[in-house]
Amino acid sequence: MSKLQGKRALVTGGSRGIGAAIARRLAAEGADVAITYQRSAEAAKRVVEEIRATGRRAVAIAADSADSRAAEDMVSAAVAQLGGLDILVNNAGILEVGRLEELSVEGIERSLAVNVRAVVLASRAAIPHLGPKSRIINIGSCLASQVPGPGLAVYAMTKAALVGLTKGLARDLGSNGTTVNIVHPGPTDTDMNPATGAGAEGQRQRIALGQYGSPEDIAASVAFLASEDGRHITGAELAVDGGINA
Ligand code: NDP
Repeated sequence: MSKLQGKRALVTGGSRGIGAAIARRLAAEGADVAITYQRSAEAAKRVVEEIRATGRRAVAIAADSADSRAAEDMVSAAVAQLGGLDILVNNAGILEVGRLEELSVEGIERSLAVNVRAVVLASRAAIPHLGPKSRIINIGSCLASQVPGPGLAVYAMTKAALVGLTKGLARDLGSNGTTVNIVHPGPTDTDMNPATGAGAEGQRQRIALGQYGSPEDIAASVAFLASEDGRHITGAELAVDGGINA
C-alpha cells in the first residue's frame, strides 16, 4: 500500500482512539505523519514509535486544541518537522454530555473551543502551507444530523458546525484541486464511547449493521479521501456509522 507515498499529514488528537488509527493507516499508505496530543504523551510516543518502525517519519506535538494560540505553533511544528503539509485531519474532539441547563458555561465553551474553534484555526493555519491537491478531512459525528436522545445538544451543535465549515472551505480551496470533506463516525469503540460502556447496548440496537465501528473503519475512509482516488469528492459528508442514521 503506497497510495500516500511522499505525502505529509497532520492528525490532531492522534494519541488514542480514532486519531491514532488514522495516523497508523496514513503511514501504512506511505505518508509521513505528525500527531498532536494534549494529555497522553506516553500513548502519543508509542504511536510515533510504531510508525517509525515501519520506516515512515513520525512526530508527536503537544498542543491543546482548547488553546486558541496553539494552532499556528502546531502547524508550524508539523511543517518544520515533515518538510511541508499535504493532509490535515481535524480529529481531536471531546464529548460533554448533559442537558443544556445542566452543563457549565466552562464546559460549553470548552466544547466549542476544542470541537469547533480549533478546527477553524488549524485549517486557517494550515492553508498557506497546503499545495495543490491537498486534503482537509474533518471528523464529525452521526449526531451532526440526528440526535436520538437528550443531553447531546451542545456536542451535536459542534459537529453540525463542522459541516458548514467543510462545505465553505471546499468552495474556498477547490480551485487548486484541494478537497475538504467530513467523515461522520457512528458509535466507534474508543475511550470516548467504549463498546462495553453503560450506554453501548442502546446505541448498538440502533445500528443497522448491529455492531460498533472500530477506529480502523474510520481510518480506512479517511485514507480513501486522502488518496488520489478521492480527488473528485469535496464538500461531502461521508457517514461511517454502520447505518445508525439510515
Ligand atoms: P477519544 O476520547 O478516544 O480520543 C480523543 C483524542 O483526542 C485523544 O488522542 C486526545 O488526546 C485528543 N484530544 C482530546 N482533547 C484534546 C485537546 N484539547 N487537545 C488536543 N488533543 C485532544 O475519542 P475518539 O477517538 O472516540 O474520537 C475522535 C473523534 O471522533 C472526535 O472528534 C469525536 O468527537 C469523534 N467521534 C467519535 C465517536 C465515537 O463513538 N468514538 C462517534 C462520532 C464521532 P489526549 O489523550 O492526549 O488528550
